Amino acid sequence: MAIRNVVQVGDDVLRQKCFPVEVFDEKLWKLLDDMKETVKKEQGAGLAAPQVGVLRRLAVVDVEEGYFELINPVIVQQKGEQSGWEGCLSVRGKSGIVSRPMKVTVTYQDRNGEKYLLKAKGFFARAICHELDHLDGVLYIDKATHIEKN
Ligand SMILES: [Zn+2]
Repeated sequence: MAIRNVVQVGDDVLRQKCFPVEVFDEKLWKLLDDMKETVKKEQGAGLAAPQVGVLRRLAVVDVEEGYFELINPVIVQQKGEQSGWEGCLSVRGKSGIVSRPMKVTVTYQDRNGEKYLLKAKGFFARAICHELDHLDGVLYIDKATHIEKN
């Protein structure tokens, strides 16, 4: 495994729409392993592929509920609303208040291409929504109603 450099806001790669993952091979596994090492080292709640310069639809989420690798994730249902603070490893030194669904249901594939359904609520749902936005070139600062320097 290796720590990857996290791309910072202003880099165009963060504003692109990512392509689906179609090949579940060792190159993908290496990317996922590196993303795991990177998100753990940076103590983030998640990391999306474009943040390490890869325009593919995958993200990792590291929360109380566990560590998840979400490949080709899609939010198929969302309920309620929550408002709370978010930060991003690509927007260092800032945090902002963002409104997100309270609950989401997500379909995704694991690193072998197996399909799963995941239900998340609270901060877990927030982390998923934040990471999935990255796959469409959206950053939390686009949605935040209030941003502060840390
Ligand atoms: Zn982020």
